[in-house]
Formats: sequence, structure tokens, C-alpha cells
Amino acid sequence: MAECKTRIGIMGGTFDPIHIGHLVTAEAVRIEFGLDKVLFIPAANPPHKQHAQVTPAIHRYIMTVMATYSNPSFFVSPIELERPGPSYTIDTVRALIDQYGEKSDFYFITGADAIADLPTWKDIDELLGLCHFVAATRPGCISMIDAVIRRFGAKGRQRIHRLSTPELEISSTDIRERVKLGRSIKYIVPESVEQYILKEGLYRS
Ligand code: ATP
Repeated sequence: MAECKTRIGIMGGTFDPIHIGHLVTAEAVRIEFGLDKVLFIPAANPPHKQHAQVTPAIHRYIMTVMATYSNPSFFVSPIELERPGPSYTIDTVRALIDQYGEKSDFYFITGADAIADLPTWKDIDELLGLCHFVAATRPGCISMIDAVIRRFGAKGRQRIHRLSTPELEISSTDIRERVKLGRSIKYIVPESVEQYILKEGLYRS
């Protein structure tokens, strides 16, 4: 009888703050790919944002827990926060394989912008052997994602998937800017996250 592997989604991000674009995407991939769970993994020290000012990890972690709490398939992992140095996905995936064993298949969930940079990720060839990638996309980005898939040949075709998701023009950058300007972020982030941002005075300056 064929062995049934647990399917685990990995939603990595800075989550500064987490917003409904992240949540809608993770849920769409969970359903489409039959994932048993999705791990949200806030990055401690994102390699691609080394020079940017990032909110202390504890705030980003708490907001991620608040945002995902009501979905029984969503979990938050502090794995990258507990590890010193830059948060490379290859290290995270190796650690998750140690934790969950070989009986799990991993699906790393990204937006279209992140997939464009995939060729520059640390140990990307090995990483593609260890996990699948799902690029949430909209019609305008399909050719760019297909170019990335072609770049990796057969491994790209087997391991990189794309999924059309609702177009939500939301970014954490825009949310931080809105808070700074005193504009509403209602419905762009879950209510608990909105309350937390206001209570803690995040993103005001
Ligand atoms: P920032 O504006 O600070 O760069 P961000 O909104 O892009 O942040 P991240 O935490 O950097 O959020 O992103 C984590 C992951 O979520 C990335 O793979 C990114 O492509 C994806 N993502 C971000 N915003 C959206 C969105 N609106 N819809 C779908 N995926 C998204």
C-alpha cells in the first residue's frame, strides 16, 4: 500500500505585520494542495532585508500567533527566532525534516515577488530536493514564474508549482505607512492584530 505522507506548508515571512494577504494565500494553498497544516515561520533576521529596520521579533511573533489562532490548521513556529544569524530557508527546512521526519512532504508558500529571487537563495538546488515551492500568482506574473521553473529544468517542473489566488494588493510596507500617517488598517489585518499595533504603538515613526 502506498505510504501516505503528511503534507506540511511553510509560510515564511517577516510578518511586519502579518496581513490578510498572507492568510488568504496560506489558506488557498492549504486547500488546493491538501496540506495537513501550515506553519507560519517569522524570520528573525531576513537575509533579503538586512539593511531595513525590522520590528523586534517578539512583536511580529505575537501578531502572527494572534492572526492564525482561529484556524485549526495554522500553527506558528519560533524555529527561526531561536536560531542566531540570518534566517536561511535551507537551514529551516533541514531542521523541520529533523523534527517531523522523512514521512512529511514540505510545501514552501511564497508570493510571486519572492519566487522571482529563488535562483539566489542559499543552496537552492539542495532546497528544491527537500521541499516543494508554491508560488501564489495572478495572471500578470505567470510568465515570470514559468521562467523560474524553466531555469531549474526537470527539478523546477516537479518542485515549483503555481496557484492562482485572489489579487490582494496588500503589503506590510503599505500597512506600516498607513499607521504612520494615522490612516485606518481595519480589515487589512485581523482585528486582534490591529488592536495590538495600536496598543503597542508600533509603526508610528
Ligand atoms: P514588506 O512589504 O515589508 O516587504 P510583505 O507584505 O511582502 O512585506 P513578507 O512578510 O515580506 O510580507 O512576505 C511573506 C510572504 O508573503 C512572501 O512570500 C510574500 O511574497 C508573500 N506576500 C506578501 N504579501 C502578499 C499578498 N498581498 N498576497 C500574497 N502573498 C503575499
